[in-house]
Amino acid sequence: MPVRAYHCEHADLPLPPHHPFPFEKYRETRRRLVEAGVLHADELRPAPAATREQLLRAHDLAFVDTFLAGELDADHQKRIGFPWCPELVARCLASAGGTVAAAWDALELGGAGHLAGGTHHAHRDRAAGYCVFHDLAVAAYELLAHGQVRSVLILDLDVHHGDGTATIFASEPRVYTASVHGAGNFPKEKPPSDLDLALPDGTEDEGYLQAVDQVLDQAFAEARPDFVFYQAGVDPLQGDRFGRLAVSHAGLEERDRRVFRRCRQRSLPVVWTMGGGYAKPVERTVRAHCGTWRAAAEELFGALVQ
Ligand SMILES: [Zn+2]
Repeated sequence: MPVRAYHCEHADLPLPPHHPFPFEKYRETRRRLVEAGVLHADELRPAPAATREQLLRAHDLAFVDTFLAGELDADHQKRIGFPWCPELVARCLASAGGTVAAAWDALELGGAGHLAGGTHHAHRDRAAGYCVFHDLAVAAYELLAHGQVRSVLILDLDVHHGDGTATIFASEPRVYTASVHGAGNFPKEKPPSDLDLALPDGTEDEGYLQAVDQVLDQAFAEARPDFVFYQAGVDPLQGDRFGRLAVSHAGLEERDRRVFRRCRQRSLPVVWTMGGGYAKPVERTVRAHCGTWRAAAEELFGALVQ
């Protein structure tokens, strides 16, 4: 069965030259996955824009409307890391909307992915660290609001702590939040998730995979989820510019396989998104993101990928 995937290429963000965010990774990851046969053109869909109603389940009205109008104050805007422009609005709406659409599809198909999203530093009332709207939170609330699920696990394996996820769901018993991240990484303030595991600088494959297993065991046991969102950031990769760990490409793909295998074993629908990944050359980052999709195709759908 081919993998259902949403993309945001119709909502590209023009960035100033030398901006540190490797925007080209999205298009290049999609191109490589199509070339490798992991993604098929008929299952590849443009992400729809999230609606204001969907956003407002996870975000404060004043924040949403101020951002949409381009009226955030200069300090708040600076914390995003992208300059405001109409294209940024379109991108943020598509980034949230793609995860929502993937969530609906996953209910039917067992799993679906988004070639963007994973914006876990967005809080209910503020943007930060390249994240404006919290796509995973918006999508989780969408399924909860429509009575499609009762208990959601948000598993965040990006090397940066999922601080926005933690604060948005701090008093939401229907959503269990788990994060494995680097202790020394952004953000400095790490408000508690339901389960946090912080790793020391330089952690390699063995220690990393042990930590992932430990968190998977505890999170699945405590959350008893009927739906899983997986933020599959690849910035634990050795040499990533914004991470401080030293996990190999093989280690990251093994991580992804373990996550998808657990979902498959429990017949749990899962949505995976991209996330951080800042290694240079960008080819190293793209290779790591492609590993997530290859793992999903094989572990969830039994595809045989070259
Ligand atoms: Zn990150």
